[in-house]
Order: sequence, then structure tokens, then C-alpha cells
Amino acid sequence: MATDRSELTSYEWRQLRARTLAASDVCIVCGHGAADTADHVIPVSKGGPRLDPDNVAPIHGVAGCRVCLRKCNSEKGDRPLSEVVQLRTSVDWFAGP
Ligand SMILES: [Zn+2]
Ligand SMILES: [Zn+2]
Repeated sequence: MATDRSELTSYEWRQLRARTLAASDVCIVCGHGAADTADHVIPVSKGGPRLDPDNVAPIHGVAGCRVCLRKCNSEKGDRPLSEVVQLRTSVDWFAGP
């Protein structure tokens, strides 16, 4: 995973990540709630905009998902979301409390 660590700790990124998680905590990879970080839908390394809210979405981080136990962020790596999620399922059933 060729992630630029400075990007992950920048002030702008932390602000954007916080706003993203405040709006939704439904993981873009597995569709479960309680996502604890955010990731780029189109990786920056693939030309995705780094600080565009439309390109940032909630995802399960290093702790993984408590429901399906996937490590969504490391599973995704720096691939585009469309390569990771072949089958989009409805997430409405897990709207959460
Ligand atoms: Zn997930
Ligand atoms: Zn899950």
C-alpha cells in the first residue's frame, strides 16, 4: 500500500474525515455501520481528488468491522472502490440507532 502518511495526518484531511464520519458511518466496502475512519473512493494515486468530499467515504479502519470482521481499509488498499465492491447491497437495514 503506497499511502503517503503525511496526507493522513494533515489538518485538512482530519477535518474532512471528521465531517465525512459525522454525515455517515456506513462503511463503503462492507455496508455495515460504525465505520471509524474514511478513505478515498478513487485513490489519490489513481487520480482521485485528495480533499474532495465527494471522493471521501466512511470505511472500517485498523480495528475492522465488528459485524463481518473484515478489515475493510486494508482490504481496499489503494484500489478504486469499484474493484473492491463488485456487488452493491442495500445498507438501509443497518441505519443504526
Ligand atoms: Zn467495513
Ligand atoms: Zn462489515
